[in-house]
Amino acid sequence: MELKVFNSLTKKKEAVRPINNTVNFYFCGPTVYWFQHIGNMRAFFVMDSMRRAVKYLGYKINHVMNITDVGHMTSDEDEGEDKMEVASKREHKSPEEIAKFYWNMCHADMQALNIEDPEHICPATSVILEIISFVQDILDHGYGYITKNGVYFDTSKYPRYGMLGGMNQNEKKFGARIEVDEEKRNPADFVLWVIAKDNHIQKWDSPWGVGYPGWHIECSAIGNKFLGEHIDLHGGGVEHKTVHHENEIAQNYAKTGHEVVDIWFHLEHLMFNGGKMSKSKGEIYTLTSLKEKGYSPMDLRLFFLSAHYSKPQNFTFEALNSAKESYKNLSRLLLKHRSGRNVIESDKLDELKRRFSEYVADDVNSPLALSVMWDALKNYPDSKDIYNLVLDFDHFLGLKLNEIKESEQDLDIPEEIITLAEERKTARNNRDYALSDTLRDKILSLGYIIVDKPKNEYEITKK
Ligand code: AMP
Ligand code: ZN
Repeated sequence: MELKVFNSLTKKKEAVRPINNTVNFYFCGPTVYWFQHIGNMRAFFVMDSMRRAVKYLGYKINHVMNITDVGHMTSDEDEGEDKMEVASKREHKSPEEIAKFYWNMCHADMQALNIEDPEHICPATSVILEIISFVQDILDHGYGYITKNGVYFDTSKYPRYGMLGGMNQNEKKFGARIEVDEEKRNPADFVLWVIAKDNHIQKWDSPWGVGYPGWHIECSAIGNKFLGEHIDLHGGGVEHKTVHHENEIAQNYAKTGHEVVDIWFHLEHLMFNGGKMSKSKGEIYTLTSLKEKGYSPMDLRLFFLSAHYSKPQNFTFEALNSAKESYKNLSRLLLKHRSGRNVIESDKLDELKRRFSEYVADDVNSPLALSVMWDALKNYPDSKDIYNLVLDFDHFLGLKLNEIKESEQDLDIPEEIITLAEERKTARNNRDYALSDTLRDKILSLGYIIVDKPKNEYEITKK
């Protein structure tokens, strides 16, 4: 089935049209100078949903994510200090140590959330030579100029500059707030290579002087290195629309002479207390802080799945509690189906699979895909067919449903039932089958079913 994604550039849902059935996918990754909060994690969850949708629908994927470990200023518009340098000074560590530490933290959270690793994860500092050569091409093709502060992109040379953020020439005032370089030709011009001040820590030789790359160039260079001159899908947070991605488009065009990205998609933010969840704006939560409060990563994943990526999602503990309850309910229903003996007609199963796939294919509509999963679990008699179907759905959902064990069910099962079940296990060990049967009936009369498993194990489910 064909995947359609809302293209922020054309403002239409468009079919992904990969060459050789392999979707080239780029997603702007983390700046590794601080802990990633659950807002950041929503971004990587969306990246993962897009990746899983591509695979679920039968395409192959070549997926790249950068790690920004140099050159991202405290503002997106080349102003302020380099975030990595700020962290370095704050923690009295080298930028390499900072990057390694925070990337490892971020990666651990991504793995806990069952976010699959892209085929290529590339730190900007590992492609400095590629970046320099990209900047050289931009200069050679007449789209850049050199000042005493570094190399700039001349936005006036690319007439379509501003098309993603929907700005016309007169509105291109961003970048004009502080004139970092009076030699800049246009307010929107942005830096490709910065000549480093003497005390700057991260710096490399270049044809234009010792310095470091601007933030935007890394994504163009990394995309070009791993995906070449055709990218089917490129995504990131909605705040990247007006500056970072605008600049990537211009850089790509300057190098290649054509548009490189087919579809740009943007995810809206995770909101908290009426604003975007953000370190600078107040309270944030990390996956670790949620775990300490008793929530599992899969509770959070189910919460994320319940909203479409193109809409802001409000974070409240009420909503997270409801996701937690839903995950328990889901586990219970799934286990019931696992030991169910009914057979479901294949056209009914096909119909469920078709509806599920259609929602995935329609701009990765996770809330509607989830509704099909609930339909399958709730409205069909207990059946291994449903169990297998929902495990298939989980290739997209990523809820680790194949790892759900009886033990997770125990959470829901009253102490009294567990005690009776253990007494029954002892009776069986003692070959006292009369007592074992009496206990089974008692458990049944209290609303629970006990199913024997190999090696004297058992499973309890609700009647
Ligand atoms: P950063 O590490 O700040 O570069 O951010 C990494 C990713 O997280 C970017 O794609 C951001 O757009 C995204 N992001 C940051 N805050 C939020 C939020 N509150 N909700 C969703 N995504 C966010
Ligand atoms: Zn990027």
